[in-house]
Amino acid sequence: MKSNFWQHQIEAAGLGAIAAKIERGERLSFDDGLALYRNPNLNVVGALANRVRERKNSDVAYWVRNQHVNYTNVCNKGCLFCSFYAKPKDDPRAYVMTPRQAAQKVRNYADVPISEVHVVGGVNPKLPYAYYLELLQEIKAARPNAHIKAFTMVEIDQIVRIAKKSPREVFEDLKAAGLDALPGGGAEVMSDRVHEDLFATKPDSARWLELARAAHLSGLKSNATLLYGHVEQTPEKVEHFVKLRELQDETGGFLSFIPLSWHPEKTALEDLKAPTGVEDLREIAVSRLMLDNFPHIKSFWIMNSAPVTQSALWFGADDVDGTIMEYEIIRDPAKDRKQVLTSRQLVEMIVEAGREPVERDPLYNVLSRGLEGVSDVETLLSNQNADLIQPSANLGITQREGITTASQSLKERGRELIESNSHRL
Ligand code: SF4
Repeated sequence: MKSNFWQHQIEAAGLGAIAAKIERGERLSFDDGLALYRNPNLNVVGALANRVRERKNSDVAYWVRNQHVNYTNVCNKGCLFCSFYAKPKDDPRAYVMTPRQAAQKVRNYADVPISEVHVVGGVNPKLPYAYYLELLQEIKAARPNAHIKAFTMVEIDQIVRIAKKSPREVFEDLKAAGLDALPGGGAEVMSDRVHEDLFATKPDSARWLELARAAHLSGLKSNATLLYGHVEQTPEKVEHFVKLRELQDETGGFLSFIPLSWHPEKTALEDLKAPTGVEDLREIAVSRLMLDNFPHIKSFWIMNSAPVTQSALWFGADDVDGTIMEYEIIRDPAKDRKQVLTSRQLVEMIVEAGREPVERDPLYNVLSRGLEGVSDVETLLSNQNADLIQPSANLGITQREGITTASQSLKERGRELIESNSHRL
């Protein structure tokens, strides 16, 4: 960041003091976070984030051969921003996989060298503790060499309650059954106000942090997320970062942070405008700058789109996630199809963006570089098991669609909230 050009740009944007802190490797303050969100010059904010990104991860952009398994969409939490869940009673869209069926999903891709199986679902009140242990055991038996990354902290909260054990005891049981890491979702945005308005029946931020702490102390690594673009306000997002980095100082258990771009369609808040690509890039950049003790920032291509993810690799992100194989949370609305990219498409997307593709496992151990090991077998399998989406086509605004429809009463509640939250700043 030494060229006169950038120095001039940074000073003109009024970000000289923050840039100096970044150069000295100093932690940014809460007020710095607000300033980065509110500064109109996104290019400069992005360039500062890129400086940190390259210092931590050089030119590398990580990807993973992974498979998602969404074992049930039944959920009793009723989050107003969610289009995935089906109500526990009388909902024709409801499904639950048996552990064996979930394992069969994994066996469907036996010929693909998948290193991570990502398992999440709704909070289904009918599932007993034994179900979760069996689910892990069956998937592990189907794919013994893959890491199983399973259960948001919201699911973990449910599992702990039905187990009637301490979180540490439950994590020991889950590890023995095959759990290797946690995806880290469910905190949404750590604000009591938003919690009360949008997801009051889920664990609050204090409980989320308590469970994440217990997981890390049990030796499990996790990620962390932020769901943005609904009714949250900027100070609430900055507070979210401050809480996460404090826990990271304590445990060192977070591997990656994933800003999740919210998709309003078919939720109770569907009249709200979806975040734009510009907002997506700012979230990537500010999170990279504020979370100085997180090794990695991920641009989840399914949520951000492939084109925005390519740009994000220059705005602070060093990870694009992976091949996915099966994903039910957000589907392509045009054909109501599952979304998937083959490893070749992911690698080509990274190369086209000007970064060095590196295949990782869930713990960021390097498995391959460049086009090494990329196979067309995956293309064939993906075509058999899910419709394929090209990375440079149909991945813009049209993929922002869910698969269920919110009930009328939830929509009314959503409209009230929209009226009382007319802007995000
Ligand atoms: S976000 Fe998760 S907990 Fe909330 S309704 Fe959807 S599936 Fe349930």
